Amino acid sequence: MRITMNHAKDYVGKTVQIGAWVTNKRSSGKIAFLQLRDGKVYFQGIVVKADVSADVFETAKNLSQETSVLVTGTVQEDTRSKLGYELLITDLTVLGESQGYPITPKEHGTDFLMDHRHLWLRSSRQHAIMLIRNEIIRATYEFFNKEGFIKIDSPILTGSSPEGTTELFETDYFGQPAFLSQTGQLYAEAGAMAFGKVFTFGPTFRAEKSKTRRHLTEFWMIEPEMAFVQHDESLDIQESYVKYIIKAVLDNQSYALNVLERDTTLLQKYVDEPFKRVTYDDAIALLQEKESENDYEHIEWGDDFGSPHETFVSNYYGVPTFIMNYPKAIKAFYMKPHETRDDVVVCADLIAPEGYGEIIGGSERNVDYTALKQKVEEFGLSMEDYGWYLDLSKYGSVPHSGFGLGLERAVAFISGIEHIREASPFPRMLTRLKP
Ligand code: ATP
Ligand code: MG
Repeated sequence: MRITMNHAKDYVGKTVQIGAWVTNKRSSGKIAFLQLRDGKVYFQGIVVKADVSADVFETAKNLSQETSVLVTGTVQEDTRSKLGYELLITDLTVLGESQGYPITPKEHGTDFLMDHRHLWLRSSRQHAIMLIRNEIIRATYEFFNKEGFIKIDSPILTGSSPEGTTELFETDYFGQPAFLSQTGQLYAEAGAMAFGKVFTFGPTFRAEKSKTRRHLTEFWMIEPEMAFVQHDESLDIQESYVKYIIKAVLDNQSYALNVLERDTTLLQKYVDEPFKRVTYDDAIALLQEKESENDYEHIEWGDDFGSPHETFVSNYYGVPTFIMNYPKAIKAFYMKPHETRDDVVVCADLIAPEGYGEIIGGSERNVDYTALKQKVEEFGLSMEDYGWYLDLSKYGSVPHSGFGLGLERAVAFISGIEHIREASPFPRMLTRLKP
């Protein structure tokens, strides 16, 4: 029976076959300890000279890093290992040789590892991060399906640019300029007017010219859009959704969290305690009040937060924090104006604690056709590009809200990793387009 060792507990005492790669090895004259990985987990295989043929022992003793093997053996409990099980090997065949594998157990620099990303993905830490990424994606579909959303796909090649033109990747589309999508939102709004509650999930592209540990040039975004839903209800849904994905990772990926040494009491706290909701005004007042005790830059009403400001505010509350009602001048044209103030819009960013910064940007949408048309002109956008979007508010507009969660930001936050580049299998950044 060919298995993977994540199912070991069902096979204790039984003989199984496993396809694996050798990550490390240690041997004496009588016994060889093989560190193996089978794509699911990392585990130990033991080859005892007295129990196998001379050939098998000789082969085992000489295995080099990343050689692929087919091993047969008996599963046994091993309380000392992270996995709790090991394999007592009785037979072993080499499938593919591996000589001079570049990533050795010694320390390597990040650039070197990034240049070898196609191989680095095999390491237990990268594997754990990808398990968490996969869990978040799985739980996302589950959550939105349960809540009655349907997934609609927005185009990647577009003729317009709702988030402004400076961060756009332009390409040639049969002699016309086209842009790689920065967001699927406007299309999601069309979807919400057709199907009520929808979400898009796809790659988005931004020519981010600054090097930060939170920005990729290609990232995946989950963008729900909900007809008949106003801002407060949208915040409730955002909060339930983020709690849902954290809980899914806690429930189903304890192995990965353990490999990453993530502080799970903090994650559990984010699931159990309500998120904080503060206005932009209050956040600015708080930052100004605490300025002398901290080393972030002075901030004035009207400024956008830098990451030290976001870090301070969310750490101050110790839970993910919604900052609501930003000045209209620093937000996108499609956000709904505030009922009683004309300087702010009905929106919120969700800031993760522990320095992870903004993970969600969202708002109630402006549905007033005349006002929107004026905005399009004000923001220097063309009716040719945005006429279709204005149609949505012309034909049966309803209150609606939506938000965008950056997948890699969520992965970095939940995994507890330093830098967003490890949250993507093949990250794209200012200075990286390979492998
Ligand atoms: P920031 O201020 O951090 O650049 P933003 O205001 O540009 O974020 P939005 O346009 O609101 O972000 O995008 C929605 C979400 O997409 C963000 O909350 C974040 O999770 C994610 N996101 C935005 N830009 C990037 C990026 N360059 N790399 C990875 N994720 C991103
Ligand atoms: Mg940005």
